[in-house]
Amino acid sequence: MTEPLIFELGAPGRSSSFMPECDVPVAPVEEMIPGGLLRRTPPPLPEVGEPEAARHFTRLSAYNHGVDTGFYPLGSCTMKYNPKINEFAARLPGFARLHPYQPEDQVQGALELIYRTGGYLGEITGMDHFTLQPAAGAHGEFTGLLIIKAYHDSRGDTGRRKVIVPDSSHGTNPATAALCGMEARQIKSNGRGLVDIDALRGALGEDTAAVMLTNPNTLGLFEKDITVIAGLVHRAGGLLYCDGANMNAILGITRPGDMGFDLIHLNLHKTFSTPHGGGGPGSGPLGVKSFLEPFLPTPVVAYSAEGGSYRLDCNRPLSIGRVRSFYGNFGVAVRAYTYIRAVGGEGMREISQNAVLNANYLLALLRGTYRAPFDRFCMHEFVATPPAGFKEAGLHTVDIAKRLMDYGYHPPTVYFPLIVEEALMVEPTETESRDTLDKFAEAMLKIAREGLEEPRLVKEAPHSTPVSRPDEVTAARKPVLRWQPAGGGGVV
Ligand SMILES: *Cc1c(COP(=O)(O)O)cnc(C)c1O
Repeated sequence: MTEPLIFELGAPGRSSSFMPECDVPVAPVEEMIPGGLLRRTPPPLPEVGEPEAARHFTRLSAYNHGVDTGFYPLGSCTMKYNPKINEFAARLPGFARLHPYQPEDQVQGALELIYRTGGYLGEITGMDHFTLQPAAGAHGEFTGLLIIKAYHDSRGDTGRRKVIVPDSSHGTNPATAALCGMEARQIKSNGRGLVDIDALRGALGEDTAAVMLTNPNTLGLFEKDITVIAGLVHRAGGLLYCDGANMNAILGITRPGDMGFDLIHLNLHKTFSTPHGGGGPGSGPLGVKSFLEPFLPTPVVAYSAEGGSYRLDCNRPLSIGRVRSFYGNFGVAVRAYTYIRAVGGEGMREISQNAVLNANYLLALLRGTYRAPFDRFCMHEFVATPPAGFKEAGLHTVDIAKRLMDYGYHPPTVYFPLIVEEALMVEPTETESRDTLDKFAEAMLKIAREGLEEPRLVKEAPHSTPVSRPDEVTAARKPVLRWQPAGGGGVV
């Protein structure tokens, strides 16, 4: 790092604290803390002035690339612009200052919001009931698979422990199966990038708990045989789970519930306009058909028409139990509710129409220079591979991604899905203008030329960031997470 660490900016006596002397009587420290635990010398804390600290962290924050600073075509992640009205709503004191232990009669508005958001998500996806407890997409999958297991077990069908996933699936799908004590079984995609029906038929059996699918799948392609697939899975006694992390292609156009899916999780922090990246908070609500409703995690928000009031229902004998403390990331639900209400039904459909249009427009601009392994209309995202001649020049997808940073763009998703070698997965989203898409395509085409004419320029990119290419392996294996004062071993 060329930057000094914040602690190194300081010097003894440069304090940032302006606390007045305590003027209420307190017991001497020796009386409150056992003698053996007291320090004999003050800790060697660095002392930094408040202006230096504020400038340091503000400068670091500006190094971040976010949807509010630039185009962010990170496939599968739906990094769309999030309208600021959602933030306003989530910050309203009536929502933001609630305490999770407040009695039900004081939080009727919050319970109503949870209840109604579940209802809207049900209408959008074609499901009967939703829980908003899961805190992320993978957590929604976890909740879903526990419900599937509980359902089979409740019928005495206890041998169903296999979860079938296509080889294009998101890594969380097989990981979730393993976490739930089940076994993932992968099936190959066919030459068109879709589920191979014969391979599926061969994998289904009496041990099948569920099939997990993403539709449109992670190649940005719609599984057109989905109703045939649903029939096969159900006839084999399994359930069909939809990984709906990314619904941006089908809002208001078609519904997983109508395609034959029994459960779905959504990522509110992708499709429903909550900022994400950097670890959260997120929300991965899970929707189910009514026959699975008894298994939903407790508590469920229930409405009583008689009293016109909402309550938390914990008396649910078949429930899988709690999956999270309290009721989920409530602030994210407020944002999704605001977004859904602001956009409306017609608006939902327009979101998807524009998301699909933008992806196809960009694909059309890049096609011919970049190669598309499945070269036909895409949904909300597409997968491309590097231009001809790049491999011979020693250039790879990662080099294109790094060079894009010099042009001010966040790179697309790279090396996913795993079944496409050197994959670049681009999702422009509906919130970008044609002008932005044109400029991004221009940069991509320029990099294609640079790679052939001046390969080192691309190979050594980025040239404009404070750190060029970090050693990602060492960073993951030996992370430097803590600063220690000089004499204490320096940075460890
Ligand atoms: C993002 C994503 C997930 C995981 O969601 P998290 O909130 O990161 O746990 C699962 N499946 C697909 C298809 C995704 O795009």
